[in-house]
Amino acid sequence: MTVRLFNTMSKEKEELIPLNGKRLNVYVCGPTTYDFSHLGHGRTYISFDMIIKYLRFRGFDVFYLMNITDIDDKIINRANESGRNWKELAHDFADKFKEDMNRLHVNSMSRFQNASDSISSMIKNIQILLDKGNAYIIADDGVYFDISSFPEYGKLSHQNVEDLKAGSRVDVNDKKKNPYDFALWKFKKPGEPSWEAPFGEGRPGWHIECSSMCNDEFGPTLDIHGGGRDLIFPHHECEIAQAESASGKKFVNYWIHTGFLNISGEKMSKSLGNFKTIRDILKTWKPEVIRLFAVSNHYRSPVDFNPESLEASKNSLERITNAYYELNEALKKPENILEDEDKEMILNIKSHKEKLIESMDDDFNSPLAIAEFYNFIKDLNKYMKSRRSGQVLEAAKKLFDDTNGFFDILPKEDASADTSAIAKSIYERLVEKGYKSDKTEATLDDLVEIRENLRKEKNFALSDFIRDQFNENGLVLEDGKEGAKWKIKG
Ligand code: AMP
Ligand code: ZN
Repeated sequence: MTVRLFNTMSKEKEELIPLNGKRLNVYVCGPTTYDFSHLGHGRTYISFDMIIKYLRFRGFDVFYLMNITDIDDKIINRANESGRNWKELAHDFADKFKEDMNRLHVNSMSRFQNASDSISSMIKNIQILLDKGNAYIIADDGVYFDISSFPEYGKLSHQNVEDLKAGSRVDVNDKKKNPYDFALWKFKKPGEPSWEAPFGEGRPGWHIECSSMCNDEFGPTLDIHGGGRDLIFPHHECEIAQAESASGKKFVNYWIHTGFLNISGEKMSKSLGNFKTIRDILKTWKPEVIRLFAVSNHYRSPVDFNPESLEASKNSLERITNAYYELNEALKKPENILEDEDKEMILNIKSHKEKLIESMDDDFNSPLAIAEFYNFIKDLNKYMKSRRSGQVLEAAKKLFDDTNGFFDILPKEDASADTSAIAKSIYERLVEKGYKSDKTEATLDDLVEIRENLRKEKNFALSDFIRDQFNENGLVLEDGKEGAKWKIKG
């Protein structure tokens, strides 16, 4: 079995074959840090995080580089408006971005690189493009890339240069040779940061940072390059033009682009003002709910943000975490049996695992894989009602952990340790309140049973106390036909 992924360049699913053994060099364009990140960013970076973690699970040795655009028009404008130093502002929001990503379990990046730390290699690359005749200087303005020197310009977005020229309006800068020529370097202006360069003091344009960093870290060709789909044109088209003109080699083997997170049908973005920051969303929803919401959609599909979808993810997450806790509880007292029913369940788990991997291997089809995961959980819950074979439970735990390895939807704390601590403290308080028993501690399941008995004895003061304690500790007690059960609150 092999991993296949949709390459924006060929518009087809292709088998993933690394340039070098099992090593995969991956670059994803990072944020421009002049404000808090919004859920659209969250969607894109969760998708890539899942993809990278899945590739690692499949045995690839992935190096994942992400840039931080810490020098840019928007940053300079925001810094000037707020009277802050551009670098201090950009790095403050970069720290906040990293905090937000951490909370969303987005932690697969091998390294971050600030654009402002790569200026010298950008200058070197711009000089190469000038020397080769791919770039030209406009006095008092900047250095521009000449797209007519690169006839393949437009190949990623499947447009050709002639059509682009015909379709464009007269550009504001009539000194450019072609309307789509783009700035590699902007000459120094008052109130802006600048760096010395042989072609004139100034600061870089946006596109040059990514192709320069890729070349520094990986050489002229890398395996995978990604970003949101708004980056296909012009950003990634410009990166290709710069990189391939300078090196004469293919820049990227596989291009991956994520679909938009929309709100009322429109892309969530800072410029449209329709955004919700990750921080705000996390006041209402747990990070794991956001994560499950993101991976329940295919990374290339547009997704509409609405509270109903998040509510659905919350309920699904509750089912997943409860099954996991029950499984961990069961694993504390496994039975040493392996009868036909258990053997059947082992085969069942194997089949769920195969289907799950098959879906993920097919262009990271996480919605299909999640559906298979839910089927597995349903079968597991049914099995655990009557049986507890250690071998089955171990196999189930392995599938749970492997799957969570790339979806990363379970809370980070060691939940089983957590629940025993909660049970212990509730039991201690119950004894303080007068509950008589010769036992010194209890599990949550024991407490559920104790509460049932107290209710039968009509000792509602203590039975209600247990229920309230569960509530205070983020748990709920649900009374059902087969007696009461505890669950983690979503
Ligand atoms: P920016 O900081 O705006 O350059 O965006 C950083 C990354 O987030 C880029 O890969 C964008 O394509 C992506 N992005 C921005 N808005 C959205 C959105 N609404 N949905 C999905 N991805 C987005
Ligand atoms: Zn980029």
